[in-house]
Amino acid sequence: MHQYKGKLIIHTGSMFSGKTSSLEKDVKRFRIAGYKTLAFKPTLDTRYGTSDIVSHDETSLEAILVEDIDNILEICRDNNPDVVAIDEVQFLGGHIEKIIKSIKGMLENEITIILAGLDMDFSGTPFEVLKELMPLSDYLTKHHAVCVKCGTDAWVSHRKTKNTERVVIGATNEYEPLCRKCFLREKRLEDAIVNKNQVSFGDLK
Ligand SMILES: [Zn+2]
Repeated sequence: MHQYKGKLIIHTGSMFSGKTSSLEKDVKRFRIAGYKTLAFKPTLDTRYGTSDIVSHDETSLEAILVEDIDNILEICRDNNPDVVAIDEVQFLGGHIEKIIKSIKGMLENEITIILAGLDMDFSGTPFEVLKELMPLSDYLTKHHAVCVKCGTDAWVSHRKTKNTERVVIGATNEYEPLCRKCFLREKRLEDAIVNKNQVSFGDLK
């Protein structure tokens, strides 16, 4: 008898925090338990196919590449899964209201959904999909990388370059996990450089 029906399980946090590994672990456990499980991953281009979800600890799981929520609904209609996993859900295409409504609809139809995604972008601004879905979850885990500056739990993925686009494809080496204090310190330094203001480094400790 399947115990998990219509549950929303969310793994969120910054980059390098182990979200994808946790999603993979959940998917593997559901498969062992005999649930029909489909894993999806948004692709930022329009090609379909499969890809390995590759987490930083080098485990991998085959996932169906999709462009938007409509693709997921279509594939689910054809395959009737018990469990749907979506990695990098912040990149899933489709109108935000459609995504939320569709996920709620699947939950009401007793499909369990596992999501992994970034809670915030490089500037500390929440991604809308996680912002909307986190309160609706049954199980929510906020994962933490390690702050590269001070070694405490990281809070955000700080972008080391000046690129201000929200999504930079294939550029994980441009990011570093930082705690809130170190992130704010970096931002003040960057702002000071941008504004060419005099800055007292004594204020930045
Ligand atoms: Zn820190």
